Amino acid sequence: MVSGSCLCGELTYQVRLYADKIFNCHCRFCRKAHGADYVTLALADANTLTLVDHKKLLREHKNSLGGYRAFCACCGTRLMNYGPDKNKYLSIVVNTLDTALSHYPVAHCNTESKAPWCEPYEGIASFEAFPPLGK
Ligand SMILES: [Zn+2]
Ligand SMILES: [Zn+2]
Repeated sequence: MVSGSCLCGELTYQVRLYADKIFNCHCRFCRKAHGADYVTLALADANTLTLVDHKKLLREHKNSLGGYRAFCACCGTRLMNYGPDKNKYLSIVVNTLDTALSHYPVAHCNTESKAPWCEPYEGIASFEAFPPLGK
């Protein structure tokens, strides 16, 4: 299990990550939502997720594909993404973790929509679309 939190600290969570399923997503949705060249995500076991949200600050943005991007309404931190059925897909924004990671990203994905100035670093796999990460 790992622990994470948003920038203001009002939202905290614990979850079990699939440590071998960490990737850098260069898709245009992640780029816009984070205001960054890419975001590092880890797939996680939704059955293990516990979220502490005393002030009811977690907000969800539903995208056109039916998925949700969750963020803190106080500080704006993007915490996680999930489908309508969280058990089928849950990904955690790795940079919100407070636990040191024992594994590093295994791949760059969705590089077909990467920022033109961004050169994904070498040493790991690179996929133009979403890689077959499975579970
Ligand atoms: Zn916050
Ligand atoms: Zn993405």
